[in-house]
Amino acid sequence: MTAQLIDGKAIAAEVRQQVARQVKARQADGKRTPGLAVILVGDDPASHVYVSNKHRACEQAGVLSFRHALPDDTTQQALEALIDELNADPRVDGILLQLPLPAHLDERPLLERILPHKDVDGFHPYNLGRLAQRLPLLRPCTPKGVMTLLQTSGLKVRGLDATVVGASNIVGRPMALELMLAGCTTTVCHRFTRDLESHVRRAELLVVAVGKPGIVKGEWVRDDAIVIDVGINREADGRLVGDVEFAPAAERASWITPVPGGVGPMTVASLLENTLYAAELHDAMAREASHA
Ligand code: NAP
Repeated sequence: MTAQLIDGKAIAAEVRQQVARQVKARQADGKRTPGLAVILVGDDPASHVYVSNKHRACEQAGVLSFRHALPDDTTQQALEALIDELNADPRVDGILLQLPLPAHLDERPLLERILPHKDVDGFHPYNLGRLAQRLPLLRPCTPKGVMTLLQTSGLKVRGLDATVVGASNIVGRPMALELMLAGCTTTVCHRFTRDLESHVRRAELLVVAVGKPGIVKGEWVRDDAIVIDVGINREADGRLVGDVEFAPAAERASWITPVPGGVGPMTVASLLENTLYAAELHDAMAREASHA
């Protein structure tokens, strides 16, 4: 292997410690402790694990965590009422609706009901629109985490030819917006892309977020490319693998993220950063209101 590994676990730990230090500094200044409310509907085992991880991360960073675990048959109206309550709760800086929701619920109006300045997942059209217009406020956590990995590793991306494989609302699309904001010339590939290989071969910076193991062949990777593999897939033998064939890609790339231990840990770290940022936004809004 010739590529240098981007150690997401270590970088995420540093981000989380930094948030913890900033929370302590806020408290020392007599400011409120930031609070995150997480809504979980139903009993999807993976979602329960994710929510527990977020809760633990909050505790370690000194962030208050309000957990709302609701039964599988929760109605759309009950969720709307809970979101309204959390929107109005001054202790709550961030609201996260854990996805996926049970099939009878419609996630889009619920995500849009969260006040944009409490939308710590960055999924509200207001926050995505801000990112699209180069005025980011609360930025989607996984793409933001990728940008932190690149910056912390000292990788300059301005002017690079970047290819994003995958165009979902939560990863691929906001990732492309982040890379454009950072000055990359960005191509986005999706299920209708005709010649994926040619777009991957051109990429100096490659970000893959599809959810199909090995969809990007190692031999397609351009020499010295930076490879960020967002995909998380469980093999039959229980191993976690990404979307890129790791070993052959690492022979050609200059930098590469492993799976696990690459992008994965960054999502929760970004969520904590967003919660802290949301608390600062709320302080600023309260100051403005008191001067009005
Ligand atoms: P998703 O919603 O299923 O989206 C997959 C995307 O891949 C879609 O945009 C789809 O295109 C595209 N796609 C499907 N087949 C393709 C093909 N043959 N060529 C090119 N693009 C293709 O998945 P997601 O939520 O974005 O997640 C993607 C992966 O990242 C998953 O493995 C997930 O587990 C992982 N993930 C990791 C983290 C983390 O590290 N913390 C966070 C989120 C997700 P269309 O838009 O045309 O359908």
